[in-house]
Amino acid sequence: MTKERVVMQVVQETGEIEEIPLTEEDLRLDWKKGTCCYCGVGCGVLIGNKDGRVLKVRGDPNHPANYGLLCGKGATLPQMVHTPDRLHYPQVRADRQRPHERVTWETAIGYVAERWKDIIRRHGPDSVAFYISGQMYSEDYYVVNKLAKGFLGTNNVDSNSRLCMASAVTGYVTSLGADAPPGCYADIELSDCFFLIGTNTAACHPVTFERIRRRKLHAAKRVKAIVVDPRRTRTADIADIYLPIQPGTDVALLNAMLHVLIAENLIQPDFIKRHTTNWEEMRRVAQEYPPERAAAICGVDAEAIAAAARLFGRARAAMSFWSMGLNQSSHGTAKNNAVINLHLATGHIGRAGAGPFSLTGQPNAMGGRETGGLSHLLPGHRLIANEQDRREMETLWGVPSGRIADQPGLHAVSLFDALAEGRVKSVWILCTNPVVSMPNLNRVLEAFSRAELVIVNDIYHPTETTQLADVILPAAQWAERDGTVTNSERCISHSSKAVEPPGEALPDWEILCRFAREMGLGESFGFRSAEDIFEEYKRTTLGKDLDITGVTYERLQQGSLQWPCPTPAHRSTLRRYTDGVFSHPDGKARFVVHGYKPPAEETDAAYPFVLTTGRVRDQWHTLTRTGKIPVLMKKDPSGFVEVNTADAAQLGLASGDPVEVTSRRGSATAPCRVTDAIKSGTCFMPFHWGSLWGDAVVNRATIESHDPLSKQPELKYCAVQLKKAAELSHA
Ligand code: SF4
Repeated sequence: MTKERVVMQVVQETGEIEEIPLTEEDLRLDWKKGTCCYCGVGCGVLIGNKDGRVLKVRGDPNHPANYGLLCGKGATLPQMVHTPDRLHYPQVRADRQRPHERVTWETAIGYVAERWKDIIRRHGPDSVAFYISGQMYSEDYYVVNKLAKGFLGTNNVDSNSRLCMASAVTGYVTSLGADAPPGCYADIELSDCFFLIGTNTAACHPVTFERIRRRKLHAAKRVKAIVVDPRRTRTADIADIYLPIQPGTDVALLNAMLHVLIAENLIQPDFIKRHTTNWEEMRRVAQEYPPERAAAICGVDAEAIAAAARLFGRARAAMSFWSMGLNQSSHGTAKNNAVINLHLATGHIGRAGAGPFSLTGQPNAMGGRETGGLSHLLPGHRLIANEQDRREMETLWGVPSGRIADQPGLHAVSLFDALAEGRVKSVWILCTNPVVSMPNLNRVLEAFSRAELVIVNDIYHPTETTQLADVILPAAQWAERDGTVTNSERCISHSSKAVEPPGEALPDWEILCRFAREMGLGESFGFRSAEDIFEEYKRTTLGKDLDITGVTYERLQQGSLQWPCPTPAHRSTLRRYTDGVFSHPDGKARFVVHGYKPPAEETDAAYPFVLTTGRVRDQWHTLTRTGKIPVLMKKDPSGFVEVNTADAAQLGLASGDPVEVTSRRGSATAPCRVTDAIKSGTCFMPFHWGSLWGDAVVNRATIESHDPLSKQPELKYCAVQLKKAAELSHA
């Protein structure tokens, strides 16, 4: 590092950039390349370390996701590394009434292997399951999938990514023929229309939002923004048109926009004819959604819907962004298809500045999809249900034909149901905290109580999940091991090891390989490094849409690469479908047509409010990391319930009053925030706070209903009642 003035650039909530200079001493640190381990923006970071401790971080000025910029979470990464609650040693308890006791790795792995052998012998391979995480590296993902699907004989491997982006996967696959967004972040600087629906990008993807905001500010007359959200968040500050939609009604709105585009001749008939199928059915259904009809369903002005459609249709290049607001729905796939339909009808796809772009919640949710990390997938975007895909993987893994079971495994909700019903006897959880993040937590707690054996790999203890485990295994985390991640724009980055993990903590892949060896599978799990695993994994992508056989660790250390990247000389693929050839066998994209359907649970006299959930800007998932960092706890020190001003007056609630939010499944209690920024009839709670922090545990109330295709649960909509509570409980 040179001695020029070096600063850490942090984007503030206002959009201002705070520049924090690095000192001479900082510059003498040992700096390693990495990626931020929080969200799917996938910012590149430089990790400054000395004497085995991570001391500083700054944005990597050369990384295409952030060009040096970080948000408040990324800027405080060092503070979550060396904390007093880090797990140093494996711990086991044979009796749940007793405390966990420290054991050696040999004892812990031997114990788990013996118990799983016994359970599998008594109940078959589908009596065990893995529940994993979009925060794991691709190498960990690959090993767990190889182990379970190729060797243990169960497809019961599902990820918390199921709660995050499963509907985007099914949306892309059904509409375009393959998973993943066609475009890239660089399109932001080339677009003249941003359509943000079901995403609080300002809070959840702050660096990407800053790029959008800058583009909008620098060309305010030419560049337009439309924001659709039942909550008026800071994302709406950039909107030329803001549509405060009734939760769950997005398909009606999107079909109505298409109705206007057709009526006003803002579609591209030539593109539709040459590159798509099913247009006549699309046109027929769009005709059923005049803006007036959608306005009545969506609770927004018909003229505003028409105006939004005109901005989109008249744009030179329009980009759509969305995240959990569309995905976490019992109709999540339909909502994704409906957004993509707008792009196919207008030709806003496969060219600079245009395209549908789902924002991934977690840092490696995309890598998880690539390596087979959902219960219906195999590595290389293969499907369990496809016989040829299974045979190819069996050959690559060197296992007999027929070894991979032909039925998809249990998805997240059904996995915990199966545990509660005794069909699954043991679950191994890696790098996630389902006792906070899953919907309908009382059901999840029942599942834990019925399980014969719960194993949890984590970096901290206690979490709401580790405290229920029988076996706790200490994992190495960010900056303590290396591996690769793929961010929202298909960009693969390598994250380096900078310091040693604490105590006896190990990378997750190594823990799994030790277990595999104990199970007698050593020959196939003899990996000596993450790079070894990457080399094997990348061979599974040969000839597939995501071919990365041209990627090596050595290349990644020079800079990140966007797939496909099939040869050593190949450079990143910024955009897909630039030739108008899509990934369905006929080369055409499909209009996948849906009418509006109401959410799974509607409001009624007993439960008159819609509860919607989400994130706040300074917290990450279930607070296990960000909850320890004082500066991140300042703005939102506790969970809260946002209630519309008129609704609060009717209920006799004022800001600060404790409110009990009760559904048919359970209750949460948190301080009230009275606001005009949320639609009347709707309330909002962030999902970060678990039972270790008090009673603001919103997922006690949420519903496990899910999309029939993506199996993603409806975390954005359930019916609740609100009432003033006697008091708040703090843990
Ligand atoms: Fe990390 Fe996301 Fe913030 Fe970037 S935007 S620094 S990836 S949390």
